[in-house]
Amino acid sequence: MHPTVKLQKSWFKEGHTKSYAFRKEQLLKMKKMLTTFEKPILNALKFDMNKSEYEAYASEIAFLKSEIDHHVKQLKTWMQPTKVKTPLTHTGSKNFIRKEPYGTVLVIAPWNYPVQLALAPVIGAIAAGNTVIIKPSELTPTVSWVLKKMIEQYFPPHFIAVIEGDKEVTQKLLEQPLDYIFFTGSVPVGKIIMEKASKQLIPVTLELGGKSPTIVHKDANIDLAAKRIVWGKFTNAGQTCIAPDYLYVHHEVKADLIRAMKKYIQQFYGENPLDNEEYTKIVNQTHFERVSAYLDSGTVVVGGSLDESKHKIAPTILDQVSWEDQVMKDEIFGPVLPVLTYHALDEAIDKINSRPKPLALYYFGENEVEQQRILNSISFGGGCINDTLYHIINPHLPFGGVGESGMGSYHGKRSFDTFTHEKSITKQTTRFDQNFRYPGSQLGMAVL
Ligand code: NAD
Repeated sequence: MHPTVKLQKSWFKEGHTKSYAFRKEQLLKMKKMLTTFEKPILNALKFDMNKSEYEAYASEIAFLKSEIDHHVKQLKTWMQPTKVKTPLTHTGSKNFIRKEPYGTVLVIAPWNYPVQLALAPVIGAIAAGNTVIIKPSELTPTVSWVLKKMIEQYFPPHFIAVIEGDKEVTQKLLEQPLDYIFFTGSVPVGKIIMEKASKQLIPVTLELGGKSPTIVHKDANIDLAAKRIVWGKFTNAGQTCIAPDYLYVHHEVKADLIRAMKKYIQQFYGENPLDNEEYTKIVNQTHFERVSAYLDSGTVVVGGSLDESKHKIAPTILDQVSWEDQVMKDEIFGPVLPVLTYHALDEAIDKINSRPKPLALYYFGENEVEQQRILNSISFGGGCINDTLYHIINPHLPFGGVGESGMGSYHGKRSFDTFTHEKSITKQTTRFDQNFRYPGSQLGMAVL
């Protein structure tokens, strides 16, 4: 067994993580850790991804602190056993659900929000009373190093440990007798994780990706839609799992929408975004080349400039794109936004339904009947009406995919629930017995 797994499993068995006091103390410690390490985290995010301080603080540190606050506030209630009703057949007994931790959890993280996506699951896992091993992404090595240093300074390895490395390291960990695996990453790797986990029947949560459509109908507030789409798409240079992947626009409003998006791109990132010090870069050369190749699809109508030495690609809008172009086959995961058009909403619904179920979907339009039609007829992980990304920062909304975009969910109470086994108990009375269940009782057979 891997020494860290062995250490954590035997320490878990001793029961240290079970009490409310311990769990609360660890959550508060994690919040303190984020404050102490704020500068190194921001510097590492700048170094690995050129994330601006504002964007990095809001999307990584502030997000985590608010998750911790929510957990600390609710933890006592969430931990309570839940009483359930006692049916007639169970008269005299008490029936309840106990909340218990799984044990040792492995959290595998991607590189795009490398701090948030490594630690947000940990908050739920430790609130639920588990021990945790974090495997950060090797594509953001400075962040991975800072994560290791800060966890080592604040938590003992028998409780929380960081194991750095690439896919070989991850694959070795997947052979360990873990109690839960929480994976965030791509669809192909998600399939590998599930296959490996199935060998030992380890439960998994898979937070995956895919192509998230953004529909703009003819009755949308075009200017506001453009502003919110530009923000949602080009934040983190499009390297966001729930970023609008492509635009699907009613043909009558396409020209106005593109014009308005061009205005907001200039307003947010300046005339030359490549020189904007605050604009995030593409994570590495491989991804830079992958995303740059999408500029060969359709016609560039906004942006299109590149700086290979800085790994930067300007916010780009592509028109005249077809469903057969490569940019419409892969998850883009970069600052390139293809625009496709439809004539009738049913056509858009049918097209989206013919593809894998997306992680997110955004619909812009004022008519409530049409909003409901979208919600009723397309299956997707989560999303917004008249906005982008905003659903992810409400701790009362579970976050996760469906179909190819993932399974399971987290954030807020759903994080606690994800890492909690619900143990159902019937506590029977010995004061009397009901004979109907026993052989020979006609009534018993009828009741059961
Ligand atoms: P990835 O799947 O390449 O890597 C994720 C993690 O898996 C990394 O820690 C990596 O080391 C490990 N890994 C890679 N190959 C492996 C293998 N063969 N065996 C075992 N482990 C392996 O994903 P990425 O490039 O880091 O992240 C981008 C993807 O993640 C996108 O598809 C994006 O949509 C998705 N994502 C999803 C969410 C979400 O919450 N649903 C959030 C962020 C990113």
